[in-house]
Amino acid sequence: MWTINDVLDSNTRKFSDKEAFVQDDRRLSWGQLGENVRQRAAWLQQQGVGKGDKIAIHGRNSTTWIEAFFAVLKCGGVAVPVNHKLAAAEVEYILADSDSSLWLVDSSLFEELGLDPKDTGIRTFALDTDKEVTGLDPMGFGTETDFRSVDVSADDLAELLYTSGTTGRPKGCMHSHETALLAGIGPGMVWGTGMNDRILMAMPIWHSAPLNNQLLGALYVGATVVLMREYEPVKFLETVQNERCTIFFGAPIAYVMPVQVVEDFEAFDLSSVHAWLYGGGPIDADTAKLLSAKYKSERFYQIYGMTETGPTGTALYPHEQQTKAGSIGKIAVNGCDMRLVNENREDARPGEVGEIWLRAQSMMLGYYKLPEASQKAFEDGWYRTGDLARIDGDGYLFIVDRAKDMIVTGGENVYSKEVEDVLINCPGVNEVAVIGLPHKDWGETVVAVIVTDRSSPIDEEAITSYCKDKLARYKIPRSIQVVDSIPRTPTGKVMKFKVRETFG
Ligand code: ATP
Ligand code: MG
Repeated sequence: MWTINDVLDSNTRKFSDKEAFVQDDRRLSWGQLGENVRQRAAWLQQQGVGKGDKIAIHGRNSTTWIEAFFAVLKCGGVAVPVNHKLAAAEVEYILADSDSSLWLVDSSLFEELGLDPKDTGIRTFALDTDKEVTGLDPMGFGTETDFRSVDVSADDLAELLYTSGTTGRPKGCMHSHETALLAGIGPGMVWGTGMNDRILMAMPIWHSAPLNNQLLGALYVGATVVLMREYEPVKFLETVQNERCTIFFGAPIAYVMPVQVVEDFEAFDLSSVHAWLYGGGPIDADTAKLLSAKYKSERFYQIYGMTETGPTGTALYPHEQQTKAGSIGKIAVNGCDMRLVNENREDARPGEVGEIWLRAQSMMLGYYKLPEASQKAFEDGWYRTGDLARIDGDGYLFIVDRAKDMIVTGGENVYSKEVEDVLINCPGVNEVAVIGLPHKDWGETVVAVIVTDRSSPIDEEAITSYCKDKLARYKIPRSIQVVDSIPRTPTGKVMKFKVRETFG
């Protein structure tokens, strides 16, 4: 099996003049990228970076980020991509937990995080070159001929990817060159990534889907990646149109927002796209219809996965978007197997809820420095995702909750998501998180934590009566707490463990 470094070397030769990366006015061919990476790698070696060293890469999407990533790997190092939306304490946690010896960071983040570059406690270099602003030296270029080649094999560690921290502290998923590349190849076959594709990367590259599915998928076939520093609806439409992009991956909101806020949406020519990928959450039937009409395309695919699997998982294909809207699909993508397992460790039957178990070629090697959690995550060679789903008569899966968030009250299972889906449509409710709190008689009791619409406040009684004909009695929240805000991860997922800690 090739390493990521081997594929890059090969592209550098095969596709030397072919466009590899585009960002605004900057255009890099595979040949130029290869040269920059070799010079960056020589510079990293001057800084003492060697085999197995962890290097944190922390910034918004940029060609420099990409050069840093490939250069770290070329030195035999391990890339630790850091979410640019994290707060200072969260960044410090990841830098320490990953044992990163160097921190390559966008200088603008210092101001945003309220940090002083002088007291980071770790050798720090700017990914951008705005030295005057930060007082940081930029990541530099060395002399190519000074680079001492390093033996790297496909099972060597390439990435430490941190999970979103939705159910607890983020965990570092260890991916080798092989697992990371396979996470690019398998899913890429689903939507047909080829050398002529122009993949728009507007979602943050530190996340496993853009990084492995998109970037490494593009690398493998020598496609072109069009980078947007950050997602913005008008810029997104302009970029698809002007760069004739062919594939885009984004959260459902990235599709809905342009339709809602861009007045001349219809004027944009989006006909170049052959695969619109969305993930991280479902799209309902009405939205699926609306998007296919507005985008004048049937080519929508939903992707379900997680950092642990790199993030290979399941897909809902274009022909299933409307009949099976809200489902994550019925089959796993190439290189991945899936089971839905009930409490008796049997395959769930139609109508039953079970936990999704996955086996994947791109499965992480384990969680970094967490041997116990790594062992607990697997059973009989399957990764237990912790996601609960119901299977329908045709074999399609519908996510109902995370196992950790399911509430057991008086012996009945209540899926917090089902209650949330009702409450969020209650007039006057803006945001909601449903949790189970300990109860001496029932085990747990259902509690709703809500943020109300200030212009039309709503009381507990009105909410309860709204639920009456929509939810079974035992699912209706016994208590409702109105709060100012609900704790979320930087990507917007509700951190139920924090909600339980804070409001329990
Ligand atoms: P942590 O593991 O730290 O608690 P996390 O699980 O949110 O955080 P990620 O690996 O970024 O971290 O997210 C994977 C999870 O996101 C999945 O386990 C699943 O719960 C959810 N998810 C991913 N894709 C979809 C999808 N298409 N539909 C619904 N949920 C999804
Ligand atoms: Mg997880």
